[in-house]
Amino acid sequence: MASVVAIVGRANVGKSTIFNRIVGERISIVEDVAGVTRDRIYATATWLTKEFRLIDTGGIELKDASFVTQIKIQAEIAIEEADLIVFVVNGREGVTQEDEYVARLLQKTKKPILLAVNKIDDNAFINEIYDFYSLGMGDPIPVSGSHGIGIGDLLDEIIKNLDFTEEEFDEDEIRFSIIGRPNVGKSSLTNAILGEERVIVSNIEGTTRDAIDTAFEKDGQKYRVIDTAGMRKKGKVYESIEKYSILRALSSIEKSDVIVVVIDGQRGVIEQDKHVAGYAHEAGKGVILVVNKWDLVEKDEKTMQKKEKELRSQFKYLDYARIIFLSAKTHQRVPQLFPLIEESFVNSHKRVQTSVLNDVLVDAQAINPTTTFNGGRLKIFYANQVSVCPPTFILFVNDPQYLHFSYKRYLENRLRDSFGFEGTPIHIICRKRD
Ligand code: GDP
Ligand code: GDP
Repeated sequence: MASVVAIVGRANVGKSTIFNRIVGERISIVEDVAGVTRDRIYATATWLTKEFRLIDTGGIELKDASFVTQIKIQAEIAIEEADLIVFVVNGREGVTQEDEYVARLLQKTKKPILLAVNKIDDNAFINEIYDFYSLGMGDPIPVSGSHGIGIGDLLDEIIKNLDFTEEEFDEDEIRFSIIGRPNVGKSSLTNAILGEERVIVSNIEGTTRDAIDTAFEKDGQKYRVIDTAGMRKKGKVYESIEKYSILRALSSIEKSDVIVVVIDGQRGVIEQDKHVAGYAHEAGKGVILVVNKWDLVEKDEKTMQKKEKELRSQFKYLDYARIIFLSAKTHQRVPQLFPLIEESFVNSHKRVQTSVLNDVLVDAQAINPTTTFNGGRLKIFYANQVSVCPPTFILFVNDPQYLHFSYKRYLENRLRDSFGFEGTPIHIICRKRD
């Protein structure tokens, strides 16, 4: 579980320049399935082999908000989400009233804060930094985001102030999170799950980030629901900001084995649902699609089937995910969610025997031989499963470019039929064997 660092400061001091400088070319769009063009406000950074996550709170914008509203939200998010805050000021302008206001907001937290004085492009400006002692934030660190000066020193300080001890997890425990846009019923579902008969809630523990995970046991299986939205204080202005909810979702996804994506069965799918689901898919973990508020839907015996078909076409990339129609309010089918979570977990951790895997692939090619594509015909020599979460297979072939997309799809389906990978994505990688 990587530590989180948030960059805070008033507009134009250079937050996003510093963010980009630290993250560099690391942001890559792996697979832009849901048409999510990732805004650069959240990324993983590495320094001296240490990894942490970085948020540019300046990218979380509220339309037409005043400076005060905007900065309050940024500070609040930073305080809530981060383990360390980098407060950026403009060394060319001296301390402004706005900087003082930000400093006051940040003083509320006990989390470590580093003061980065930006735009110190050369030594001629170095004396400007002393002014900033008045903010009461400790020693100012001179940097130049645009020239890359002092960024190494800033990173050294960041690393020094973060805790990199790994959290220990119980291996028998299934960690899952419930994500979705606001008001789809995440909190209600969490409460319904925890309120189920024979659910034994063993402990509630707050971690450093004030996140609340809840461990419980159901039918002999241990679970942990990550960052239980239901336990969070609600009604904060920023909860409705899409970028913020994505941020929250991403951090829960990272800690989970299985992602429960909730949509509102009554209101139907909107763009934001697709974004959330897209992130869940990209994580390569188990996914379950929950259609909540099913009690509100007027239905006959065909409604569920129709709805499922509709959802399958709206979430094509989630073809492996089970869909369950339930009501967090009446608890209808809530008990059936547990076996789905377990199935998804088990399948995403499944390892298949190499010999059986190769038999399946030989049979698959016998039934449906490869054809010529890109100037050649694919020959698969042998295959190996190299990892789990998601199950990943390497096929050693004569030339990867002969693999047609539809043939890859076919092989994937054969593996699914043979081994049962419901609830989890699987990856197939082709390698040239010389
Ligand atoms: P943000 O609003 O805090 O995210 O600020 P930006 O990163 O967008 O930067 C605001 C302006 O300051 C841009 O025109 C940047 O090019 C400029 N800027 C950022 N860092 C530096 C720096 O280290 N030196 C100088 N001279 N300009 C900078
Ligand atoms: P969250 O923002 O995703 O955590 O959503 P909440 O759990 O706060 O639910 C939003 C609203 O939908 C609340 O008024 C809930 O009472 C209501 N709600 C949640 N689940 C259901 C459901 O299954 N059926 C009905 N009728 N209402 C629900």
